[in-house]
Amino acid sequence: MPAEIVTRFAPSPTGYLHIGGARTALFNWLYARGRGGKFLLRIEDTDRERSTPEATEAILKGLKWLGIDWDGDWVSQFERRDRHAEVAREMLARGGAYKCFCTPAEIEAAREAARADGRSTLFQSPWRDADHASHPDAPFVIRLKAPREGETVIEDAVQGTVRFRNDQLDDMVCLRSDGTPTYMLAVVVDDHDMGVTHVIRGDDHLNNAARQAQVYRAMGWEEPVWAHIPLIHGPDGKKLSKRHGAVGLEAYQALGYPAAGMRNYLTRLGWAHGDAEFFTDEQAREWFDLKGIGRAPARLDFKKLENICGQHIAAMAGADLVEEIVAYLAAAERPALSQSQKDGLLRAMPHLKERSKTFPELIEKAHFVLAARPIVPDEKAGEALTPVSRGILRELTPQLQNASWQREEIEQAVARVAEAHGMGLGKIAAPLRAAIAGRTVTPSVFDMMLVIGREETIARLTDAAA
Ligand code: GLU
Repeated sequence: MPAEIVTRFAPSPTGYLHIGGARTALFNWLYARGRGGKFLLRIEDTDRERSTPEATEAILKGLKWLGIDWDGDWVSQFERRDRHAEVAREMLARGGAYKCFCTPAEIEAAREAARADGRSTLFQSPWRDADHASHPDAPFVIRLKAPREGETVIEDAVQGTVRFRNDQLDDMVCLRSDGTPTYMLAVVVDDHDMGVTHVIRGDDHLNNAARQAQVYRAMGWEEPVWAHIPLIHGPDGKKLSKRHGAVGLEAYQALGYPAAGMRNYLTRLGWAHGDAEFFTDEQAREWFDLKGIGRAPARLDFKKLENICGQHIAAMAGADLVEEIVAYLAAAERPALSQSQKDGLLRAMPHLKERSKTFPELIEKAHFVLAARPIVPDEKAGEALTPVSRGILRELTPQLQNASWQREEIEQAVARVAEAHGMGLGKIAAPLRAAIAGRTVTPSVFDMMLVIGREETIARLTDAAA
């Protein structure tokens, strides 16, 4: 067991932060944080054509939103290219690699010939065992001297023992003829130099692990623990794609899912701790382990996501919710809240956070405290404002005028008027909702009245009765 656990997230900045990537980051973060270890971030920007600063920005922003923090500054893989080249030369000096002078045309010709003979097209360089004295003064690449016989075996914490036949792995290029390192080399050098002890990533990298393990072995470096996690599938069980809708993490913020709920759901996606569905960050840190990661692809389930988010909204402190809702509105490009709207939202929060699965749902319920007079009822709510119900509202106002603004007294005043008209409380609630909130889905009418106060309540009832 290494002294300190070090994990990393190593995204390529070529697009948005995919939710699969976000989950990988989360698993690495939880694994390290739960063990007093370090979690590092490395941006794999070696592909200069496809990497963009905007994509890096999106990754940083997405991780921050999800509440994932990394130790130290993030590392740019591209900036470490000299070090990668140095290791390639070191490997050469150790005899773990060799210079290959074959031109692309020669390699293609060798492949052609192999194809024609029905042999494996895996390129075998004639320079592998060539005498140094025979080396021409010509451009060369540095190739790994990979074992030709036997197997490269990966002990994977999720996949178990995975075997790769060495006669199916070629001597991969580590350093190109222009002196630039290949991605496969860079990953290993970086992980080694950063002291990474556990590589937890998508199982689309399992094949890379075989080649990367060969580099560790050629350098005499200690291999990390490998853990390749199954990818996330869409609700239909097929590989996640744009077809499934929200695949970028930023879309989830804009849809109004709270970050805590998203963390909980993504952690649970492909990992289990007994039958726990809802858990706190502390519990996740305490429980998360590699043993709990399943071998089958996890399926996205929006119903489950919403349920978990609803539980987190209910459990959150009001002030934290307001803060996160402010960020949500900005992300969703919806109008910002004024200070008095924020204050109102906070006051109303105890009556809003139960049974709201997302922020848009919560905001809809909060309409009574966010809207200003005159309250314009939506179509459905407006149906409750009939000549008869308007008359009832008119009768109610003087009663409320005299009530002390206590729940019990307000209830009694409303009940008295309802009774006088031979109607139940349920029946009278509809025009009250329409008058106070202009909506049909609201907190209880009494809670709303208490939140907005006597004066505002009476003003709204008077508006609606007119
Ligand atoms: N940069 C790779 C990717 O974004 C990850 C490499 C790794 O985790 O080793 O898929």
